Amino acid sequence: MDEPVICDSPVTLLYITGYNYSGSTLLAFLVNAHPLMASTGEICGPANFTAQSQCSCGSPLDACPVYREIERRVGSPFFQLDGFKFGHRLLSIPPTLRQRLLFGSLRNTRAETLRDWARERLPWARAVAREKRAVYAGFIKGAAALFGVSIVADSSKNPMNIPFLMKADGVRLRVIHLVRHPAACVFSAINRSPHGVAAAAAYWARNFDTVERVLERVPREDWMRLRYEAVCLEPETACRGLCEWIGVPFDPAMLRFRQAAHHIYGNPMRLTDVAEIRLDMRWHTGLSEEELRVVAAITGSQAQRCGYHFDRERSIAGCEAACAP
Ligand SMILES: [Zn+2]
Repeated sequence: MDEPVICDSPVTLLYITGYNYSGSTLLAFLVNAHPLMASTGEICGPANFTAQSQCSCGSPLDACPVYREIERRVGSPFFQLDGFKFGHRLLSIPPTLRQRLLFGSLRNTRAETLRDWARERLPWARAVAREKRAVYAGFIKGAAALFGVSIVADSSKNPMNIPFLMKADGVRLRVIHLVRHPAACVFSAINRSPHGVAAAAAYWARNFDTVERVLERVPREDWMRLRYEAVCLEPETACRGLCEWIGVPFDPAMLRFRQAAHHIYGNPMRLTDVAEIRLDMRWHTGLSEEELRVVAAITGSQAQRCGYHFDRERSIAGCEAACAP
């Protein structure tokens, strides 16, 4: 493979945050198809990573030549595909009390700011944070050098990674808050997870609040809110808006996203050959009136701020505009 092993110049990390089932894998594919950008999918990895977890190229991750090469370039015992050290050990938050206290949500900005300040000063905590940042930055810079780009997208979504990654050396963080109608997300969640309607709606609202709270710490020009519905209804307009914001010319190759080489980790969409961008509105018939009322009661104020309605006829009226309020 070509040298350098990692990219020496600053790399832009395009971090996609939001709720699960919001279309982040589709967005990762669109970004990846641009010749000046690349996506590796969910860099922080899934909780259930195994050696059989598949890259979008069809190989198990530990047999994918691209992931293997990034692993070589990272060169850390904390990122090893053979040892299942993808994700948990790279950056996501293992379910231990110490890790949650060091990196997780405390549901309060003041408490998190104080915690982050202390984390950078207590020697043992600083050592853990430095190690995680070094592995993460190595992954981003290694991927950038390998693909010959200076913009790498990560669709890990966990908002608590954002303040942590703002301090990564040689990485400029730009954040996309990808939102999707809460009823659509809840419909996906109840069909693919053990959550019921109320629990899934509460999780959507809590995730939205956490993202909004975290974004208060990010310079306004460094984040944007993008509606999944806009990506599906007007993909070219949405891609043009994204390119303008990130500072690269739009390239029509983005709309032929399946034709570009891809090595993306994410939801099962990565393993299909679907090339058509189509808005999934199954929640219109899949949720009962009562279930929709429950979702509206729990997520209504946040949904309204994104321009969503709960009247089925008007649910996504005006969502062609890419940027949500
Ligand atoms: Zn691959």
